[in-house]
Amino acid sequence: MYYNINNPSEKVSLKEAVLKSITSEAGLYMPESIPQLPAAFFESLTEMSLQEIAFEVSKVMFAGDIEESALKQIVDHAMNFPIPLKQLGENLHVLELFHGPTLAFKDVGARFMAGLFEYFLMNDQSEVTILVATSGDTGSAVADAFYNKKGVKVCILYPSGKVSALQEKQLTTMGGNISALEVKGNFDDCQKLVKQAFADTALNQRMNLTSANSINFARLFPQSFYYFWAVAQLGKNDKPVYVSVPSGNFGNLTAGLIAKKIGLGIERFIASTNSNHSVPDYLKNGLYESHPIQFTISNAMDVAKPSNFPRMMALCGKDHEAMSKDIKGHWCTDDETRAAMKSLQNDYAYIADPHGAIAYDGLKHHLPESAVGVFLESAHPAKFPDEVNKVTGIDIRIPDSLLDLMHKEKKAVLIENDYDSLLKQLH
Ligand SMILES: *Cc1c(COP(=O)(O)O)cnc(C)c1O
Repeated sequence: MYYNINNPSEKVSLKEAVLKSITSEAGLYMPESIPQLPAAFFESLTEMSLQEIAFEVSKVMFAGDIEESALKQIVDHAMNFPIPLKQLGENLHVLELFHGPTLAFKDVGARFMAGLFEYFLMNDQSEVTILVATSGDTGSAVADAFYNKKGVKVCILYPSGKVSALQEKQLTTMGGNISALEVKGNFDDCQKLVKQAFADTALNQRMNLTSANSINFARLFPQSFYYFWAVAQLGKNDKPVYVSVPSGNFGNLTAGLIAKKIGLGIERFIASTNSNHSVPDYLKNGLYESHPIQFTISNAMDVAKPSNFPRMMALCGKDHEAMSKDIKGHWCTDDETRAAMKSLQNDYAYIADPHGAIAYDGLKHHLPESAVGVFLESAHPAKFPDEVNKVTGIDIRIPDSLLDLMHKEKKAVLIENDYDSLLKQLH
């Protein structure tokens, strides 16, 4: 069963947790228990493929909720692109999460979640509307994953002028069951509007609203697969493994903590953020304070109130000391981000996008000599061509699969940053 973090005695099935996303008073769902995988699984990890690993990990979590053959199909379809681990230096590796259809790691969660929705809605006549706030990458991954899916409408809210040109095209050109609202506000405003809509009981009854942000457990959980896959690709070694995660809403890092609970040997995570650094501050001094949002060149991580922080607290028993044992915080200014991009280029001939560069910087500062480090490269550098070009002098080519998009016509409705304006668009 899945319990409501704000009210643990309230429990629902996986189906309900996934289709609803979040409780009516904004509580996140968490699994009552996280089972461990047996030692035999970890012994054969290095011989398994990504899809085999993903199937075993999802089985341990979802056995009993989904038929095994259906789960296998969902996993195989969701994880159908490579996630290579590349070695850059003796103890330095990058896990490239951007080889999916929309060029960011969000494809993993969105594609798995779409499969789960399809499975749970197979015999339902009802229609659900996915309301999703995006800082750039989630919206396009969700649009791609849910395009033409029966019984699902997708409505994307994105902050006007705060996503890149390619991101905007990805959000606004699909048509069909996907629509886009361009909000005159920032990402936190979009997230707030979505939360308000979820709290609106009448609207929910009328529209069967749900979310595809990492507040949805089905979006978040599959992101644990690639932590296992990273360790598998490292091969047999006795060094402690450190993984640096570029973080905004902390779904990615929460999935890493879940992988560790399932038994994966990761010594420590590094929570690497931009100037929105409430979580690194908490890790340092035990005080959690939210600050006004800061806009940075790593815009997908411009989040002032990370929605998965309560899940991280739950996973660490609400204990600051326990959390700081598992996670070290790190943050970068924009100038430090650019310096990290430059250093990756100069020292390793590697071109990273600003988000991945922040993760690299975290590793550079906090990886002990005796350990082996992996940083997650969360988006293709072509998604941020202006900044990458300015810093590295290199013109990153947009992959052919996305070039066509740039000629398609944007279709979005510009709305004011208030709830009434959102309501007018929902029908
Ligand atoms: C969403 C996103 C992040 C942040 O991931 P969270 O799970 O929200 O912490 C980092 N990098 C990129 C490129 C993203 O799209």
